[in-house]
Amino acid sequence: MKRLIDESDIRREVTNVGKKIAHDYRDSQLTILGVLTGSIVFVADLIRAIDLPVRLGVIQASSYRGRTTQPAALTIDTHMLPDIRGRDVLIADDIFDTGRTLDALVKDIRQQEPNSVGSVVLLRKQGRQTVEIEPDYHCFDIPDAFIVGYGLDYNDDYRHLPYIAVMEEQDL
Ligand code: 5GP
Ligand code: MG
Repeated sequence: MKRLIDESDIRREVTNVGKKIAHDYRDSQLTILGVLTGSIVFVADLIRAIDLPVRLGVIQASSYRGRTTQPAALTIDTHMLPDIRGRDVLIADDIFDTGRTLDALVKDIRQQEPNSVGSVVLLRKQGRQTVEIEPDYHCFDIPDAFIVGYGLDYNDDYRHLPYIAVMEEQDL
C-alpha cells in the first residue's frame, strides 16, 4: 500500500473546507448528512471545522458492483434520516467516483423538501464521472486508483487508517 495523503494534509484541507462552508452557510439552518459508512471519519472532523450550530444526520448508500463493467445497483436507506424539511442540507460523502451515488442521493433528498441541497466530498477521482452534477465542495482531487483509509474500506478493512493510501495490485 502506498500513502497518498498524510494526516496533516487531510487536517488542513478539511479545516479549509469547513471554513468555506461556515462562511457560505452563515445565515442558514444547516444539516450535514453523512453517507454511511465511508464518510464517518470525514464527517466527524468536518462538523468540528464548521463554526456554526450545525445539525448532523446520516443516510446509507450501498452499491453492489457487478463483475467487470456491469453497472452497480444502488440502494439508498433513508430510515435514519432526521427531519430536514425547510433546512439547508449538505450531503457529505467520502469519494466522488462516477458520481452516481451523489446524483441519486441529491434526487432522493429533494423529495423531503429541504430548503436547499448541496454536497461536499473528501476526494474527487479524476476522469471517472458519468453524471452531470459536481460536488459543491471537495478537499482533494486524486488520480483514478483504489483508495483506502480515513473511513474508506477494502472489504470492510482499513477504515481506521488516519491517512489515505492507494491499494496496489499486490494488495488486492
Ligand atoms: P460513485 O457512485 O461516485 O461511483 O461511487 C461512490 C462510492 O463508491 C463511494 O461513496 C465509495 O463508497 C465507493 N468508492 C468509489 N471509489 C472508491 C475507492 O477508490 N475506494 C473505496 N474504498 N471506495 C470507493
Ligand atoms: Mg460510499
